Amino acid sequence: ATPTALMVGVGRGAVLGILVKGQDALEASGTVTTVVLDKTGTLTVGAPSVERVVVTGGASAAQVLRWASAAESSSEHAVATAIREHAASRVGDVPEARDFHVTPGLGVEAVIEDAQVAVGSPAHMESLGVAVPADLAATVREAEASGRSAVLVAREGAAVGAIVLADEIKPDARGAIAALHEAGLRTVLLTGDSEAAARRAAADLGIDDVRAGVLPTGKAAAIEELRAEGHSVAMVGDGINDAAALAAADLGLGMVTGTDVALKSSDIILVREDLFAVIDAIALSRATNRTIR
Ligand code: ADP
Ligand code: MG
Repeated sequence: ATPTALMVGVGRGAVLGILVKGQDALEASGTVTTVVLDKTGTLTVGAPSVERVVVTGGASAAQVLRWASAAESSSEHAVATAIREHAASRVGDVPEARDFHVTPGLGVEAVIEDAQVAVGSPAHMESLGVAVPADLAATVREAEASGRSAVLVAREGAAVGAIVLADEIKPDARGAIAALHEAGLRTVLLTGDSEAAARRAAADLGIDDVRAGVLPTGKAAAIEELRAEGHSVAMVGDGINDAAALAAADLGLGMVTGTDVALKSSDIILVREDLFAVIDAIALSRATNRTIR
Protein backbone atom coordinates (compact mmCIF):
# COMPACT_ATOMS: atom_id res chain seq x y z
CA ALA A 1 0.00 0.00 0.00
CA THR A 2 1.58 3.23 -1.07
CA PRO A 3 1.03 6.20 1.22
CA THR A 4 -0.23 8.26 -1.74
CA ALA A 5 -2.95 5.76 -2.68
CA LEU A 6 -4.09 5.58 0.93
CA MET A 7 -4.22 9.35 1.23
CA VAL A 8 -6.28 9.56 -1.94
CA GLY A 9 -8.60 6.95 -0.44
CA VAL A 10 -8.96 8.87 2.81
CA GLY A 11 -9.71 12.04 0.84
CA ARG A 12 -12.27 10.35 -1.39
CA GLY A 13 -13.88 8.89 1.74
CA ALA A 14 -14.26 12.35 3.26
CA VAL A 15 -16.15 13.49 0.15
CA LEU A 16 -18.44 10.45 0.47
CA GLY A 17 -19.10 11.08 4.16
CA ILE A 18 -16.83 8.26 5.25
CA LEU A 19 -14.35 9.37 7.86
CA VAL A 20 -11.30 7.12 7.94
CA LYS A 21 -9.63 7.42 11.35
CA GLY A 22 -6.55 5.35 10.67
CA GLN A 23 -5.11 4.49 7.27
CA ASP A 24 -4.58 0.84 8.31
CA ALA A 25 -8.35 0.55 8.42
CA LEU A 26 -8.57 1.20 4.71
CA GLU A 27 -6.10 -1.60 4.02
CA ALA A 28 -7.72 -4.07 6.43
CA SER A 29 -11.16 -3.55 4.94
CA GLY A 30 -9.99 -4.65 1.51
CA THR A 31 -10.27 -8.22 2.67
CA VAL A 32 -13.62 -8.08 4.47
CA THR A 33 -15.85 -11.09 3.74
CA THR A 34 -18.57 -10.73 6.37
CA VAL A 35 -20.51 -7.69 7.52
CA VAL A 36 -22.04 -7.89 11.00
CA LEU A 37 -24.80 -5.41 11.74
CA ASP A 38 -26.23 -4.34 15.06
CA LYS A 39 -30.01 -4.08 14.97
CA THR A 40 -31.21 -1.31 17.27
CA GLY A 41 -30.14 2.12 16.07
CA THR A 42 -28.21 0.69 13.13
CA LEU A 43 -30.82 -1.13 11.03
CA THR A 44 -33.74 0.36 12.93
CA VAL A 45 -34.36 4.02 13.64
CA GLY A 46 -33.45 3.29 17.26
CA ALA A 47 -36.33 5.25 18.71
CA PRO A 48 -38.98 2.68 19.60
CA SER A 49 -42.44 3.78 20.62
CA VAL A 50 -44.89 2.10 22.95
CA GLU A 51 -47.75 0.50 21.04
CA ARG A 52 -49.73 -0.97 23.89
CA VAL A 53 -49.71 -1.95 27.53
CA VAL A 54 -51.11 -5.34 28.51
CA VAL A 55 -51.93 -6.02 32.16
CA THR A 56 -52.45 -9.06 34.30
CA GLY A 57 -53.23 -9.86 37.94
CA GLY A 58 -55.45 -6.83 38.62
CA ALA A 59 -53.16 -3.87 38.02
CA SER A 60 -54.43 -1.13 35.68
CA ALA A 61 -52.54 -0.07 32.56
CA ALA A 62 -52.01 3.38 34.11
CA GLN A 63 -50.49 1.84 37.25
CA VAL A 64 -48.17 -0.39 35.24
CA LEU A 65 -47.06 2.59 33.18
CA ARG A 66 -46.44 4.74 36.28
CA TRP A 67 -44.31 2.03 37.90
CA ALA A 68 -42.41 1.27 34.71
CA SER A 69 -41.77 4.93 33.96
CA ALA A 70 -40.49 5.58 37.49
CA ALA A 71 -38.23 2.52 37.40
CA GLU A 72 -36.81 3.66 34.04
CA SER A 73 -36.15 7.23 35.19
CA SER A 74 -32.40 6.70 35.49
CA SER A 75 -31.90 4.58 32.36
CA GLU A 76 -30.68 5.99 29.04
CA HIS A 77 -31.77 2.92 27.06
CA ALA A 78 -34.08 3.65 24.10
CA VAL A 79 -36.72 1.40 25.71
CA ALA A 80 -36.58 3.55 28.86
CA THR A 81 -37.00 6.75 26.85
CA ALA A 82 -39.99 5.28 25.00
CA ILE A 83 -41.70 4.23 28.24
CA ARG A 84 -41.11 7.60 29.92
CA GLU A 85 -42.44 9.50 26.90
CA HIS A 86 -45.51 7.30 26.64
CA ALA A 87 -46.24 7.68 30.35
CA ALA A 88 -45.69 11.44 30.37
CA SER A 89 -48.76 12.16 28.26
CA ARG A 90 -50.96 9.56 29.95
CA VAL A 91 -50.44 9.09 33.66
CA GLY A 92 -49.71 12.52 35.07
CA ASP A 93 -47.26 12.46 37.95
CA VAL A 94 -44.76 9.64 38.10
CA PRO A 95 -43.69 8.56 41.61
CA GLU A 96 -40.15 8.93 42.88
CA ALA A 97 -37.93 5.90 42.59
CA ARG A 98 -34.83 4.94 44.54
CA ASP A 99 -32.20 2.20 44.69
CA PHE A 100 -31.87 1.94 40.92
CA HIS A 101 -30.15 -1.06 39.48
CA VAL A 102 -29.43 -1.37 35.78
CA THR A 103 -28.40 -4.66 34.16
CA PRO A 104 -27.12 -3.87 30.65
CA GLY A 105 -28.87 -5.92 27.97
CA LEU A 106 -31.57 -7.10 30.37
CA GLY A 107 -33.40 -4.33 32.21
CA VAL A 108 -33.77 -2.27 35.38
CA GLU A 109 -34.99 -2.49 38.96
CA ALA A 110 -35.92 0.21 41.45
CA VAL A 111 -37.88 0.75 44.63
CA ILE A 112 -41.11 2.70 44.10
CA GLU A 113 -43.50 3.56 46.91
CA ASP A 114 -41.68 0.95 49.03
CA ALA A 115 -42.26 -1.77 46.44
CA GLN A 116 -39.63 -3.50 44.33
CA VAL A 117 -40.32 -2.90 40.61
CA ALA A 118 -38.48 -4.53 37.71
CA VAL A 119 -38.75 -3.79 33.98
CA GLY A 120 -36.98 -5.79 31.31
CA SER A 121 -36.77 -8.67 28.91
CA PRO A 122 -38.14 -12.16 29.64
CA ALA A 123 -34.53 -13.16 30.36
CA HIS A 124 -34.36 -10.37 32.97
CA MET A 125 -37.48 -11.73 34.67
CA GLU A 126 -36.05 -15.22 34.62
CA SER A 127 -32.83 -14.04 36.25
CA LEU A 128 -34.91 -12.33 38.97
CA GLY A 129 -37.00 -15.45 39.52
CA VAL A 130 -40.22 -13.77 38.34
CA ALA A 131 -42.67 -16.23 36.80
CA VAL A 132 -44.29 -15.00 33.58
CA PRO A 133 -47.98 -15.97 33.35
CA ALA A 134 -49.22 -17.54 30.12
CA ASP A 135 -51.16 -14.47 28.96
CA LEU A 136 -48.10 -12.23 29.14
CA ALA A 137 -45.87 -14.89 27.59
CA ALA A 138 -48.32 -14.99 24.68
CA THR A 139 -48.16 -11.19 24.36
CA VAL A 140 -44.37 -11.37 24.17
CA ARG A 141 -44.50 -14.16 21.57
CA GLU A 142 -47.00 -12.31 19.38
CA ALA A 143 -45.01 -9.09 19.61
CA GLU A 144 -41.79 -10.82 18.57
CA ALA A 145 -43.41 -12.81 15.77
CA SER A 146 -44.62 -9.53 14.26
CA GLY A 147 -41.21 -7.85 14.47
CA ARG A 148 -41.98 -5.90 17.63
CA SER A 149 -40.56 -6.41 21.10
CA ALA A 150 -42.04 -6.49 24.56
CA VAL A 151 -40.66 -5.81 28.01
CA LEU A 152 -42.26 -7.15 31.17
CA VAL A 153 -43.06 -5.25 34.34
CA ALA A 154 -42.97 -6.93 37.75
CA ARG A 155 -43.89 -5.58 41.19
CA GLU A 156 -42.84 -7.31 44.39
CA GLY A 157 -41.73 -10.35 42.42
CA ALA A 158 -44.98 -10.78 40.48
CA ALA A 159 -45.50 -9.96 36.80
CA VAL A 160 -48.08 -7.17 36.43
CA GLY A 161 -47.89 -6.33 32.74
CA ALA A 162 -46.12 -6.20 29.41
CA ILE A 163 -45.25 -3.16 27.31
CA VAL A 164 -45.17 -3.74 23.54
CA LEU A 165 -42.75 -1.57 21.58
CA ALA A 166 -42.14 -1.08 17.87
CA ASP A 167 -38.95 0.28 16.36
CA GLU A 168 -39.14 1.11 12.66
CA ILE A 169 -36.68 -0.45 10.27
CA LYS A 170 -34.81 2.26 8.34
CA PRO A 171 -36.29 2.74 4.87
CA ASP A 172 -32.99 2.08 3.08
CA ALA A 173 -31.97 -0.97 5.13
CA ARG A 174 -33.26 -3.56 2.64
CA GLY A 175 -31.53 -1.95 -0.32
CA ALA A 176 -28.27 -1.56 1.58
CA ILE A 177 -28.27 -5.23 2.56
CA ALA A 178 -28.95 -6.23 -1.07
CA ALA A 179 -26.00 -4.06 -2.17
CA LEU A 180 -23.72 -5.83 0.32
CA HIS A 181 -24.80 -9.20 -1.08
CA GLU A 182 -24.21 -8.01 -4.64
CA ALA A 183 -20.69 -7.13 -3.59
CA GLY A 184 -20.25 -10.75 -2.50
CA LEU A 185 -20.39 -10.08 1.24
CA ARG A 186 -22.14 -12.24 3.81
CA THR A 187 -24.36 -10.44 6.32
CA VAL A 188 -24.99 -11.29 9.97
CA LEU A 189 -27.48 -9.66 12.36
CA LEU A 190 -26.08 -9.27 15.90
CA THR A 191 -28.54 -8.26 18.59
CA GLY A 192 -29.62 -8.46 22.19
CA ASP A 193 -33.14 -9.14 20.94
CA SER A 194 -34.76 -12.53 21.26
CA GLU A 195 -34.17 -15.19 18.61
CA ALA A 196 -37.76 -14.85 17.31
CA ALA A 197 -37.61 -11.06 16.89
CA ALA A 198 -34.16 -11.24 15.31
CA ARG A 199 -35.16 -13.98 12.86
CA ARG A 200 -38.20 -11.99 11.81
CA ALA A 201 -36.09 -8.85 11.20
CA ALA A 202 -33.41 -10.83 9.33
CA ALA A 203 -36.05 -12.44 7.10
CA ASP A 204 -37.62 -9.03 6.36
CA LEU A 205 -34.26 -7.58 5.45
CA GLY A 206 -32.78 -10.58 3.65
CA ILE A 207 -29.89 -10.91 6.11
CA ASP A 208 -28.02 -14.24 5.81
CA ASP A 209 -27.40 -15.17 9.43
CA VAL A 210 -28.47 -14.27 12.98
CA ARG A 211 -26.73 -14.09 16.36
CA ALA A 212 -29.54 -13.21 18.80
CA GLY A 213 -29.92 -12.90 22.56
CA VAL A 214 -26.35 -11.65 22.79
CA LEU A 215 -25.63 -9.65 25.94
CA PRO A 216 -23.54 -6.49 25.52
CA THR A 217 -20.56 -8.35 26.98
CA GLY A 218 -21.03 -11.14 24.42
CA LYS A 219 -21.01 -9.02 21.26
CA ALA A 220 -17.20 -8.89 21.03
CA ALA A 221 -17.04 -12.65 21.63
CA ALA A 222 -19.46 -13.20 18.74
CA ILE A 223 -17.13 -11.21 16.47
CA GLU A 224 -14.12 -13.22 17.67
CA GLU A 225 -16.01 -16.44 16.90
CA LEU A 226 -16.66 -15.34 13.32
CA ARG A 227 -13.02 -14.37 12.95
CA ALA A 228 -11.93 -17.74 14.33
CA GLU A 229 -14.10 -19.38 11.64
CA GLY A 230 -11.86 -17.62 9.12
CA HIS A 231 -14.01 -14.64 8.21
CA SER A 232 -12.63 -11.15 7.92
CA VAL A 233 -15.27 -9.15 9.72
CA ALA A 234 -16.62 -5.63 9.42
CA MET A 235 -18.93 -4.60 12.25
CA VAL A 236 -21.48 -1.81 11.94
CA GLY A 237 -22.84 -0.39 15.19
CA ASP A 238 -23.83 2.65 17.18
CA GLY A 239 -24.34 1.83 20.84
CA ILE A 240 -22.32 1.60 24.02
CA ASN A 241 -23.06 -2.12 23.80
CA ASP A 242 -21.37 -2.25 20.37
CA ALA A 243 -18.08 -0.62 21.39
CA ALA A 244 -16.15 -3.78 22.25
CA ALA A 245 -17.43 -5.53 19.12
CA LEU A 246 -16.44 -2.57 16.93
CA ALA A 247 -12.94 -2.75 18.41
CA ALA A 248 -12.75 -6.55 18.01
CA ALA A 249 -13.74 -6.48 14.32
CA ASP A 250 -11.18 -6.29 11.51
CA LEU A 251 -12.99 -3.14 10.52
CA GLY A 252 -15.26 -1.21 12.88
CA LEU A 253 -17.80 1.08 11.23
CA GLY A 254 -19.48 3.49 13.66
CA MET A 255 -22.68 5.31 12.78
CA VAL A 256 -22.26 9.04 13.41
CA THR A 257 -25.62 9.08 15.22
CA GLY A 258 -24.14 6.69 17.78
CA THR A 259 -22.61 7.12 21.19
CA ASP A 260 -19.11 8.56 21.72
CA VAL A 261 -17.67 5.31 22.99
CA ALA A 262 -18.86 3.47 19.86
CA LEU A 263 -17.25 6.08 17.63
CA LYS A 264 -13.99 5.93 19.64
CA SER A 265 -13.86 2.17 19.08
CA SER A 266 -14.43 2.43 15.32
CA ASP A 267 -11.88 2.55 12.49
CA ILE A 268 -14.24 4.42 10.24
CA ILE A 269 -17.04 6.82 11.12
CA LEU A 270 -19.99 6.87 8.73
CA VAL A 271 -20.88 10.54 8.75
CA ARG A 272 -23.71 9.97 6.32
CA GLU A 273 -26.84 8.67 7.95
CA ASP A 274 -27.91 6.44 5.06
CA LEU A 275 -26.93 2.78 5.25
CA PHE A 276 -25.41 2.74 1.75
CA ALA A 277 -22.40 4.38 3.40
CA VAL A 278 -21.48 0.87 4.61
CA ILE A 279 -21.09 -0.53 1.10
CA ASP A 280 -19.41 2.70 -0.05
CA ALA A 281 -16.84 2.38 2.76
CA ILE A 282 -16.02 -1.20 1.77
CA ALA A 283 -15.96 -0.38 -1.95
CA LEU A 284 -13.65 2.55 -1.25
CA SER A 285 -11.11 0.40 0.52
CA ARG A 286 -11.33 -2.28 -2.16
CA ALA A 287 -10.66 0.37 -4.81
CA THR A 288 -7.82 1.82 -2.79
CA ASN A 289 -6.19 -1.57 -2.38
CA ARG A 290 -6.59 -2.31 -6.09
CA THR A 291 -4.77 0.87 -7.10
CA ILE A 292 -1.96 -0.13 -4.81
CA ARG A 293 -1.37 -3.69 -5.93
P1 ADP B 1 -30.71 -3.79 21.89
O1 ADP B 1 -29.71 -2.73 21.43
O2 ADP B 1 -30.93 -4.85 20.84
O3 ADP B 1 -31.95 -3.23 22.49
P2 ADP B 1 -29.67 -4.35 24.52
O4 ADP B 1 -28.57 -5.31 24.76
O5 ADP B 1 -29.46 -2.94 24.86
O6 ADP B 1 -29.97 -4.60 23.00
O7 ADP B 1 -30.99 -4.84 25.26
C1 ADP B 1 -31.53 -6.12 25.03
C2 ADP B 1 -32.91 -6.21 25.63
O8 ADP B 1 -32.84 -6.03 27.05
C3 ADP B 1 -33.86 -5.12 25.15
O9 ADP B 1 -34.47 -5.46 23.94
C4 ADP B 1 -34.85 -5.06 26.31
O10 ADP B 1 -35.77 -6.13 26.23
C5 ADP B 1 -33.97 -5.31 27.51
N1 ADP B 1 -33.52 -4.05 28.14
C6 ADP B 1 -32.30 -3.51 28.12
N2 ADP B 1 -32.26 -2.36 28.82
C7 ADP B 1 -33.52 -2.15 29.26
C8 ADP B 1 -34.16 -1.13 30.03
N3 ADP B 1 -33.53 -0.06 30.48
N4 ADP B 1 -35.47 -1.28 30.30
C9 ADP B 1 -36.15 -2.36 29.87
N5 ADP B 1 -35.62 -3.34 29.15
C10 ADP B 1 -34.33 -3.25 28.84
MG1 MG C 1 -27.49 -0.26 18.54
